[in-house]
Amino acid sequence: MGHPCPVQIADVPVRALARVRTGAIEANCALLRSKLSGDTALCAVVKADGYGHGMVPCAGAALAGGASCLAVATAAEAVELRAAGFEVPILVQGALTRIEARAAVEAGADVVAWREGFVRAVAADAGAAAVPARVHVKLDTGMGRLGTADPVEARAICDLVAGDARLELVGLMTHFATADERGDDHFPAQLERFRAFVDEITAVHPRVIAHAANSAAVFRDPAAHFDLARCGIAVYGLDPFGEDPAARGLEPALALESHLAALKRFEPGWSAGYGRTWRAERPTWVGIVPLGYGDGWRRGLSNRADVLVGGRRRPLAGTVSMDNVAVELGPDPGDRVGDPVVLIGAQGDQRILCEEVAQRLGTINYEVTCGLLPRIPRLHEAG
Ligand SMILES: *Cc1c(COP(=O)(O)O)cnc(C)c1O
Repeated sequence: MGHPCPVQIADVPVRALARVRTGAIEANCALLRSKLSGDTALCAVVKADGYGHGMVPCAGAALAGGASCLAVATAAEAVELRAAGFEVPILVQGALTRIEARAAVEAGADVVAWREGFVRAVAADAGAAAVPARVHVKLDTGMGRLGTADPVEARAICDLVAGDARLELVGLMTHFATADERGDDHFPAQLERFRAFVDEITAVHPRVIAHAANSAAVFRDPAAHFDLARCGIAVYGLDPFGEDPAARGLEPALALESHLAALKRFEPGWSAGYGRTWRAERPTWVGIVPLGYGDGWRRGLSNRADVLVGGRRRPLAGTVSMDNVAVELGPDPGDRVGDPVVLIGAQGDQRILCEEVAQRLGTINYEVTCGLLPRIPRLHEAG
């Protein structure tokens, strides 16, 4: 009964798992630090469960690798980091409701403001909690999302924050829309607008810090580094330009692994999976790998992606179902039930990058790891 299952968490065999090397996250942060100009600090962005890699262990690894603060998108994420014991500054970058802003302030997290009503609400919460709220003012220089696009309004918000004893004006920020599109002219235009704003505000409030760069901007232009760089994707060893991360010295931290749960011989014309979208063209072997779109291995990969079995690339055969995918192993595979399967990562001298999976799906690497669902356990390993 049963077969050897090589994918184990704490000696419990599991059908599929994401292995996350915290040493890679440390190394990526050290690399980012080395790219940063002079006194620029590194803020590791660990929102969305650390881009799907597991927020708390990744935050610890990032700080060990040289990050000095953390950023998230939601108040709940900041509260979770505080509950895990992190005492570094935590920047909540997202838009917050009144209740969420209060939770963020009570957690001692930094919030982002661009509206007077929000500033007044945060001041009241900070007064009630008897802790000064740390505020960053956001100028929308061309992302067209959060922040005010009016530098005069942004300046008024800065003065409002700086003039309220319950608040501390900590930072000025903006976010780039096209940092990953090298050679475009929108990025330099955003940078110029932000530079002018920073010069204007720091003339009056000299201790405030400025930050604009995401991962792509760090690699693209040292002029965008300012006092702090907010890096997410590169921390995880994924390439901000969708290229091979190794070319920039980044190490992918995540590997997605499963195993061959079943093996069967197919005659020509036999089909595998829903809708019979794949049929054997020759006598061949098909392996069943027990993960599917219910794990975040997307149905859009049907008949379009490879996995690694026995150190070789093998194509997906047929429609990805909720819990299983089929893989064609060829007429004479030599593989056995229980053999490991790598869907993202390396096996032998072959590797499948997240960037490759993203390209097959017509999306970006960010969405591939964020899309891995909680049904996939994350196993964090040092080294
Ligand atoms: C997510 C996010 C980042 C990190 O971007 P990466 O491209 O992952 O480095 C930086 N700043 C803001 C405002 C963000 O929302």
